[in-house]
Amino acid sequence: MAIIEAVKHIREGIREACLRSGRDPAEVTLMGVSKFHGLAELEEAWKGGIRLFGENRVQEAAEKFTVFKEKHPEAEVHMIGSLQRNKAKAAAALFDGIQSVDRDVLIDELGGLTSGREKPLRVLLELHTGEDSKTGYPDTDSLCRAAERVLAYPGLLLKGLMTMAPYTEDQKTIRASFRALASAKALLESRFPGLDWSCLSMGMSGDFEIAIEEGSTLVRIGTAIFGERHL
Ligand SMILES: *Cc1c(COP(=O)(O)O)cnc(C)c1O
Repeated sequence: MAIIEAVKHIREGIREACLRSGRDPAEVTLMGVSKFHGLAELEEAWKGGIRLFGENRVQEAAEKFTVFKEKHPEAEVHMIGSLQRNKAKAAAALFDGIQSVDRDVLIDELGGLTSGREKPLRVLLELHTGEDSKTGYPDTDSLCRAAERVLAYPGLLLKGLMTMAPYTEDQKTIRASFRALASAKALLESRFPGLDWSCLSMGMSGDFEIAIEEGSTLVRIGTAIFGERHL
């Protein structure tokens, strides 16, 4: 029950942030980040209306979602954590999308693995915008080259960009990180007008309202839905 209530509460927060910034709440997808939480909790979130889930470890995600998707074939799960090349095969087999594509070798690996896929693997390119995170492409030039690389693979479908803001209380720093992603999106849209850059994945439990004010279309919420993670 607590999870269903929490989802409602987050939706309310999304709605208010949208109203403040003149946006339509329908533009913002709520992802439930279910890492370290089990099937019973996934089920609750599903009842609360969550249809997109995020996981950051391939093994853990495979254990839960092979079962969960049999029961709920419409459920989608995205990889949001750093992906090692040696896990790419398992990841390509399980996930509907990979949000944490942060290096060219990974694009080549995933591209090679998805050539025969019926439904292409959705891909977001991750931009490094915060001091503490180590992952992500460093700048827009590298994003442009990465976008061209993704295009060469029919099994991959580019959908937009992702970032993680730095862990800080300083709202200005967090906002600057989200602005950097929004402006990278604007640049890529002008450089590659034929492509779909519509997904801007940014914002977590502590900062999703700022992210929405800065243009987020997908917020990744773990703790505020499922509670603290049991490591
Ligand atoms: C864990 C995680 C989240 C969710 O974080 P919360 O603060 O628990 O909402 C979002 N994005 C990524 C990439 C994560 O690893």
